[in-house]
Amino acid sequence: MLDFLIKYRGIFVVLFVLPVSLVFKAYMGTRNRLAFWQNSAPEKHADRVKKVQQQVKDWQEKTGGNIPMCTARPGWQAMSLKQGNYKKTHYQVDVSLMDILEIDEEKGTVRVEPMANMGQISAILKPLGWSLAVVPELDALTVGGLINGFGIEASSHKYGLFQYICESLEIVTADGELVKCSKDENSELYYAIPWSYGSLGFL
Ligand SMILES: Cc1cc2nc3c(=O)[nH]c(=O)nc-3n(C[C@H](O)[C@H](O)[C@H](O)COP(=O)(O)OP(=O)(O)OC[C@H]3O[C@@H](n4cnc5c(N)ncnc54)[C@H](O)[C@@H]3O)c2cc1C
Repeated sequence: MLDFLIKYRGIFVVLFVLPVSLVFKAYMGTRNRLAFWQNSAPEKHADRVKKVQQQVKDWQEKTGGNIPMCTARPGWQAMSLKQGNYKKTHYQVDVSLMDILEIDEEKGTVRVEPMANMGQISAILKPLGWSLAVVPELDALTVGGLINGFGIEASSHKYGLFQYICESLEIVTADGELVKCSKDENSELYYAIPWSYGSLGFL
């Protein structure tokens, strides 16, 4: 079956993958706009963060910290072509927090959850006449992935990598604590998170 799919992958992609992607994109676009317009996300955000903290505390209790943790985000949602086989043996923590929480036009800042992606943020900011200072071009790239990994675009020659346009971050560390960091608060953590690939906690 796998050989058949590989040999005729063109047909499989055109008849199945592309239509399914289109439907998924339309569904997510509608869902994200509704969540933003209803302004329901800020209220739910604190509860969602508590759920992440609880999962980390459960991990400590159930495994004694002996099994590594990872995000539960399936590989097909990430940009990387790497198969995330390690996820099968790791303790998966659901961090599917994907909403835009607040836009402060006075300060020129936007507060988002870690799985909010570039396409989603641009679609909301553009009608308001705003844009992120650095917009890595692929719509599916997430804020969490760009901070823990990396993100770059032409405007980076002026503003730096994506991580460095982030004013402050919130991270759930391996003991389940929620820690805020910025240039002025827990600055060592703020500067250590970029390129850390999730090894310091969950954003
Ligand atoms: C084909 C391809 C094209 C690319 N093109 C570009 C480009 O045009 N411009 C550009 O700037 N970059 C590009 N990149 C690089 C890309 O931006 C990085 O690989 C980025 O980290 C991927 O983000 P993602 O949202 O897919 O995150 P993931 O790959 O899911 O995550 C990246 C890392 O961050 C960790 N992580 C993710 N979310 C969290 C979280 N909430 N808490 C803790 N850890 C977390 C993951 O565990 C992983 O280690 C490209 C990469 C590929 C494979």
